[in-house]
Amino acid sequence: MAAARRPVLAANWKMYKTAAEAAQLARAVREGARDVLGAREVLLAPSFLSIAAVAEALRGSGIGLAGQNLHHEAEGAFTGEVSPVMLKDAGCTHVIIGHSERRQLFGETDEAVAKKARAALAHGLTPIVCVGETLAERESGRTMEVVERQTEKALRALSTDQVAAAVLAYEPVWAIGTGKVATAEQAEEVQAFIRKLVNRSHGQAAAAALRILYGGSVKPDNIGILMAQADIDGALVGGASLKADSFLQIVHYAAG
Ligand code: PEP
Repeated sequence: MAAARRPVLAANWKMYKTAAEAAQLARAVREGARDVLGAREVLLAPSFLSIAAVAEALRGSGIGLAGQNLHHEAEGAFTGEVSPVMLKDAGCTHVIIGHSERRQLFGETDEAVAKKARAALAHGLTPIVCVGETLAERESGRTMEVVERQTEKALRALSTDQVAAAVLAYEPVWAIGTGKVATAEQAEEVQAFIRKLVNRSHGQAAAAALRILYGGSVKPDNIGILMAQADIDGALVGGASLKADSFLQIVHYAAG
């Protein structure tokens, strides 16, 4: 990856771990990641109910805290939802938006993703916007078309500065939780394409600053080759982030 972009290693704990388990894992990550934090950004995304306990475990550590979703309104009659104001109040710095599980299982549309990204930024949260094609879309040659639509819709209403400050995650749906990691070449091809799209829509400076993560079966044994690619600026990690040992190996990757 380009030297000017600080790598991001983000853990998505999905619907795993009680508050006590999440706090324990956060303490282990805090202890084990201490030596890389100047050079690398480490983020943890626990479930909503564990955010308070993880915030406490991370206090003063320099490790970021992310929600896994949000509602675009600041407050209102939206039973079961969590607002950007609430995430910020609980200590979050980031929020994952448009994860493929949200798009596929909970019907989140490109329009909803765009609204959420705007709302996150408006409330001082860095959005981690996820894009990526399904297996059927890849096999029918539509990867670039799908990624282009998702990226452009998510970023369209954002200013140049907002795009530069945001994080994007390319997560091919067929690689999430399946053990089938995209090859470094496949990931780089799409991520370089995304950066070109951003260059076209928001200019060279925003494209050069935007961190683009890869997500999909990242493990200690494949992170190095992924991070050696010019347009891969970090990883969004699901399964391998649920144990301190494997996540810390990922955090301590050596590119190449
Ligand atoms: C994810 O949930 O964003 C993800 C990439 O999961 P996994 O690492 O388990 O494929």
